[in-house]
Amino acid sequence: MTTPTKAQQLYEGKAKTVFATSNDDNVIIYYKDDATAGNGAKHSVIDEKGILNNDITTIIFQKLHEHKIKTHFIEKLNEREQLCEKVEIIPLEVIIRNTIAGSMAKRLGITEGTDAKTTIIEICYKNDDFGDPLINEYHAVALDLCSFEDYEFIKKTTFEINKILVNMFDELGIKLIDFKIEFGRNSKGEILLADEITPDTCRLWDKETNKKLDKDQFRLNIGSLTDAYKEVLNRFKK
Ligand code: UDP
Repeated sequence: MTTPTKAQQLYEGKAKTVFATSNDDNVIIYYKDDATAGNGAKHSVIDEKGILNNDITTIIFQKLHEHKIKTHFIEKLNEREQLCEKVEIIPLEVIIRNTIAGSMAKRLGITEGTDAKTTIIEICYKNDDFGDPLINEYHAVALDLCSFEDYEFIKKTTFEINKILVNMFDELGIKLIDFKIEFGRNSKGEILLADEITPDTCRLWDKETNKKLDKDQFRLNIGSLTDAYKEVLNRFKK
């Protein structure tokens, strides 16, 4: 199969730009260096972030394919771009929490790093105007974002993905604290894992030292984001 060529820009997000291609069923996703936090309130351009995230998400999506998880990812094209199946994103942010941190720790007054007695799944309505509010599956169905059947598939797949990722990061000496994923529908109506899985969308703590190897470096201004992301990438490459 020849690689489709890049066509017009379809969408520009905070961290990625999506382009149409000569094949209607494919898109090219370009990883930018922009970093945002707090629904865009904090913004910086961080040299090389896009290159590191393109590399990291490629490795993770390939691992998920080995475990028969269907994703939009087809191939990495160059430093910053990947070819993906075109999907319509389901406007849900699906979050897994293995350890309590971030917004859950704040909202419920729990010390960050407290183990969760059970793995937690949350869904948020992907809508910047309302700050991606936490909802449940009844809201999602009532808002016509998905059916109950779709939600059950998303939930089952998300727990499977969590198991694979927890083991994968554990082998790298990293604790997967929490992460956010998104799903989309392709032209055949199949639901695929889409978007990205990177240190922008996961909390990753070194198993020995609890050092944060993720976007909290930027959110909390505690150190070098690129050094942390490079550390994650280097552990994959060892
Ligand atoms: N997350 C994300 N995008 C968002 C919100 C959260 O990728 O818009 C990820 C975040 O990196 C973390 C997990 O989802 O790994 C849980 O985030 P949380 O709800 O604690 O919010 P945060 O503290 O990141 O605002």
